[in-house]
Amino acid sequence: MQKKKLGIFSFTCCEGCTVVFIELLNNHFFDYKNRFDFVSFRQLKSNNKTGKMDFAIIEGAISTASEKKKLLEIRKKAKKIIAIGSCACTGAPSNQRNNFRPEIKKEIEKQVKALRQLKTIEPLKKYVKVDILLNGCPVNITQLEKAMEGL
Ligand code: SF4
Repeated sequence: MQKKKLGIFSFTCCEGCTVVFIELLNNHFFDYKNRFDFVSFRQLKSNNKTGKMDFAIIEGAISTASEKKKLLEIRKKAKKIIAIGSCACTGAPSNQRNNFRPEIKKEIEKQVKALRQLKTIEPLKKYVKVDILLNGCPVNITQLEKAMEGL
């Protein structure tokens, strides 16, 4: 059986949802290793690619133009995108500054520009079609496990 190509990607977040995925490997390492070719997984390997893939699992919200560009690139190359965690699904809690009071927004304006941040921090679905949404902070491990069974 040919392995499915799977990429794991992180945008703006605490990376806690990827930690949940890594916890899944305690019980599923050999199963996943046999079923998937991990084309990208920055937390576990250094030779990462964004070539054609069957599935892209993405955590984190989009806060910079370069993240937006990379997300659009992933969308072009992945047959299915699975958003994991509330940062990827709704933007929160990584998007807290969207709701700061105007005077606080003014105060941090310089830093936001210096860090090349976009005006607002947005969930993946603001920019691309997302096929599966697994909400939660962090993502629920049982739901993630079920989703992996379905891929
Ligand atoms: S959803 Fe929560 S646990 Fe997951 S990356 Fe965002 S802040 Fe971290």
